[in-house]
Amino acid sequence: MLIVKKFGGSSVADKERVYNVANRILEDYKKGNDVVVVLSAQGKTTDQLIAKAKEINPNPSRREMDMLLTTGEQISVALMAMALEKLGVPAVSLNAFQVAMHTTSVYSNARIKRIDTERITTELENKKIVIITGFQGVNKFDDYTTLGRGGSDTTAVALAAALHADACEIYTDVEGVYTADPRVVPNARKLEEISYDEMLELATLGAKVLHNRSVELAKKYNVQLVVLSSLVVADGTIVKEETKVEKMLVSGVAADKNTTRIAVMGVKDEPGIAFKLFSLLAKNNINVDIILQSIGRDGTKDISFTVASDFAAEAKQIIEANLARLSGEKVTVEDNVAKVSVVGAGMQTNAGVAATMFEALYDAGINIKMISTSEIKITVLIDEKDVNEATQAVHEAFKLARK
Ligand code: ADP
Ligand code: ASP
Ligand code: MG
Repeated sequence: MLIVKKFGGSSVADKERVYNVANRILEDYKKGNDVVVVLSAQGKTTDQLIAKAKEINPNPSRREMDMLLTTGEQISVALMAMALEKLGVPAVSLNAFQVAMHTTSVYSNARIKRIDTERITTELENKKIVIITGFQGVNKFDDYTTLGRGGSDTTAVALAAALHADACEIYTDVEGVYTADPRVVPNARKLEEISYDEMLELATLGAKVLHNRSVELAKKYNVQLVVLSSLVVADGTIVKEETKVEKMLVSGVAADKNTTRIAVMGVKDEPGIAFKLFSLLAKNNINVDIILQSIGRDGTKDISFTVASDFAAEAKQIIEANLARLSGEKVTVEDNVAKVSVVGAGMQTNAGVAATMFEALYDAGINIKMISTSEIKITVLIDEKDVNEATQAVHEAFKLARK
């Protein structure tokens, strides 16, 4: 069997954890499996590197940011290979360059295009355990890129697909995918399995247990994932196309504080304004989430939308530079907002979900600023200070708690 095992930052945070992981890898290897390991940067390394960068330059270029952040993963893989050497097992660490993990050019948010598998298969044939840096790639300029925060999951799934692995295991610091973040909702229930579509929505809406693109790739290449704890031996959650359990009305609640609302005030109420605004942002690789347009009055209207907070300053700057062309009066930015969402495939055929969610928020005295819905999710934008309370209230209202 060829197994891809990914371990997140907290799973390799210190010496003990590194050895804990090394021993788990060893078990599979000793059974005669080929083992490919993907690692994230240790503990809070990525956050610390970002803080370090901001000390030097509050607005560093994304290229140099990627150059810096990729060092975190390189430390992890080298240390893991050393631990395995110490345990007497042949291992080799490889970074994105050595593998040749080709991505698009967009720094800090690149997508994997193609992975050269030759080096990896040669090392596996030589009976080595192959330890690969997560989160990073190389673009056509031979520069390092990164896949966005949490991107190591995506590296693991892309490798599993490229190598036609028999299993792809994502080890983390919780026991699987829960009905809500177990750190916010202590009685959240661990799911035995979840469909790609529901997991993709949860991940996109802030459940950072899996990087959303990893789920997208898993669905595309039909890679069955299992999410499980690196510390506790317990069944995890299987992520796959069709789940056998009865479709739940709602499978989970997700929250995302990393969101900012931007409003462009007083634009002309005429055709083409929304097109100009959003194509401008798209051209600059800024993803827009919830969009709300006010009703026109006196020939003008306001357009507001949310973006991931990391892109807010850039979005504001771009819009301000084009304010005249967009016929706008001013741009406002509100960062103390958060999204709370419910996700469930069963929603498609059940009318009461929105009402239940809004009632729960009303009972908790929480005001809704924006609403967005799709077939399998409802998202509300609220004040950031209310986010945990809202998550708990909504989780409670749908009776998702552990029995
Ligand atoms: P890793 O470093 O292993 O990649 P992450 O911190 O990226 O770990 O993701 C795991 C964290 O995701 C958990 O510690 C948990 O707080 C959070 N989380 C958010 N939503 C969920 C959920 N629905 N189920 C499980 N964990 C969740
Ligand atoms: N180290 C990166 C991050 O903190 C990638 C990851 O953990 O998946 O975002
Ligand atoms: Mg992660």
